[in-house]
Amino acid sequence: MLIEAGERLLAAFPAALSAPAKRALEKLGVEVRLGARVTDCSARGVVIDGLEGIESECVIWAAGVAASPAAKWLGAEKDRAGRVKVNPDLTLPDHPEIFVIGDTALVTGKDGKPVPGVAPAAKQQGAFVAAVLRRRAKGPGAGIGAGQAFRYRNFGTLATIGRASAVADFGWIRMNGYLAWLLWGMIHVFFLVGSRNRLAVLTEWLWAYVSFRRGARLITGSDS
Ligand SMILES: Cc1cc2nc3c(=O)[nH]c(=O)nc-3n(C[C@H](O)[C@H](O)[C@H](O)COP(=O)(O)OP(=O)(O)OC[C@H]3O[C@@H](n4cnc5c(N)ncnc54)[C@H](O)[C@@H]3O)c2cc1C
Repeated sequence: MLIEAGERLLAAFPAALSAPAKRALEKLGVEVRLGARVTDCSARGVVIDGLEGIESECVIWAAGVAASPAAKWLGAEKDRAGRVKVNPDLTLPDHPEIFVIGDTALVTGKDGKPVPGVAPAAKQQGAFVAAVLRRRAKGPGAGIGAGQAFRYRNFGTLATIGRASAVADFGWIRMNGYLAWLLWGMIHVFFLVGSRNRLAVLTEWLWAYVSFRRGARLITGSDS
């Protein structure tokens, strides 16, 4: 059972991809409950909207991540997730010497929405700040300034659902199903650093796919 507070799944994607994502999950046997907010969580299960109890011995909380406590150290303004509100050039207000980037930063994109907390955004922000620092190192008047705003370039968003289904949004084209899933795999392998890593991940994934075995094992301690 998947319990989602929003009215549709995958809110970061266009609404047209939420329906196929829901169908793909239902095909896997998942009961999807939309517009249902978990208000309590215990060893016996969860409570929805303070009224309905659902018994379960296995509850997985996946309702988002919180930013690092950097906002607290900096005494900076933050949003609900703890992200530091930064200027368009990723500096802290009144502190041009402090940059905040990646998941810890809250910066608005061209569309007025916050830049998403994803790896490409963090990488682009890193490159942006590196360029600013290089220019600053060249001395005053070398072309840095408040006028230069970080612009996030979204090359596409993908999410995988199970073994052979995904949704993909590249702005100019949207797709779902097996093709989107193949693309998801190829893109993730392509962006790994070094051919050795690409080959290793590809082999592991192929093995996991044909053998139905998981690729990772976590050692969390001994029974005693
Ligand atoms: C489960 C999960 C799945 C995700 N899947 C995707 C995905 O498919 N695609 C995608 O684009 N993004 C995905 N993301 C988001 C992506 O991982 C982040 O947006 C990205 O890693 C942000 O980069 P970052 O450098 O800001 O932070 P991180 O990559 O989190 O790096 C921060 C580093 O700082 C270290 N650190 C933290 N506190 C301290 C401290 N006090 N002192 C020293 N070191 C510290 C941490 O250990 C960590 O190594 C996923 C995130 C999660 C949690």
